[in-house]
Amino acid sequence: MEQFTTTQQQRLTELNAEPEFINMRFEDPSERDNIFRKTEANLVRRNKEKLTKLLDEGRKPLAIQIEERLKEWLTKAEGFTQVTTPTIITASMLDKMTITKDHPLTNQVFWLDSKRCLRPMLAPNLYTVMRDLNKITKAPVRIFEVGSCFRKESQGAQHMNEFTMLNLVDFAGIKDGRQMERLKELAKDAMKVIGIADYELEIEKSEVYGETMDIVRGELEIASGAYGPHFLDPKWGVFEPWVGIGFGIERIAMSMGNYRTIKRIGKSIAYLDGSPLKL
Ligand code: ATP
Ligand code: MG
Repeated sequence: MEQFTTTQQQRLTELNAEPEFINMRFEDPSERDNIFRKTEANLVRRNKEKLTKLLDEGRKPLAIQIEERLKEWLTKAEGFTQVTTPTIITASMLDKMTITKDHPLTNQVFWLDSKRCLRPMLAPNLYTVMRDLNKITKAPVRIFEVGSCFRKESQGAQHMNEFTMLNLVDFAGIKDGRQMERLKELAKDAMKVIGIADYELEIEKSEVYGETMDIVRGELEIASGAYGPHFLDPKWGVFEPWVGIGFGIERIAMSMGNYRTIKRIGKSIAYLDGSPLKL
């Protein structure tokens, strides 16, 4: 029995062929090559059609649509304000997150020089902005940011070095003891807005980080939520209850679009909205 050659398999994978198909077996090489040629042509046509449709009609890749739906929901229905903060942050900002030696993120930071790095998360900037806004208004602060975060990852199908996080924080408007309830409410509403019904909320307790809540679909973590009072809060001059959730935009798109690898749907010059550009 014959299998597709490695090159054929790579090409089929690139074109989004089903894994079962890629592992098919054949009587002889000529049958295999025939089927490869036909399938490749079909897949190329399908990907071309999809790209043409995007250019002519949809205009917005799935990841962008997800981002926009969440932004619309947060600003119009939930009273959150969008902020944008720098992608380059200082070492001292990172220190305040206590990303010390035993923290999993320590070795994942992209340093620009001894004092500056690319942000691996949005939390340091959001802590600062929410605290300052609360000082001015003396009222609850609801803000969110959506932007690139950077982590040195061992790659794999679910991780990219640059990915898009949407991080919301609801500060000083929640009764102590009600944080998990609020987190669940926000998670459920977010999933509804995006159109995901089959997800789980996984709650974990940790000595250091308190309770956390992940939104998981199948085996894939699509978002992580946490709340305070938290041991980091005093360093940021934050003393009131808050909840926050970080959504991985490409993880959500990957899951909704049924893509097996995240890089197809992420920021890329090789793929657009899941389709390869080398057709
Ligand atoms: P994981 O355990 O899957 O590596 P994490 O728990 O380290 O993720 P968080 O810090 O919770 O990630 O980040 C919030 C969300 O951002 C995650 O739930 C995930 O959806 C997304 N995310 C995190 N790292 C990456 C990455 N390298 N590439 C794409 N998305 C990511
Ligand atoms: Mg997480």
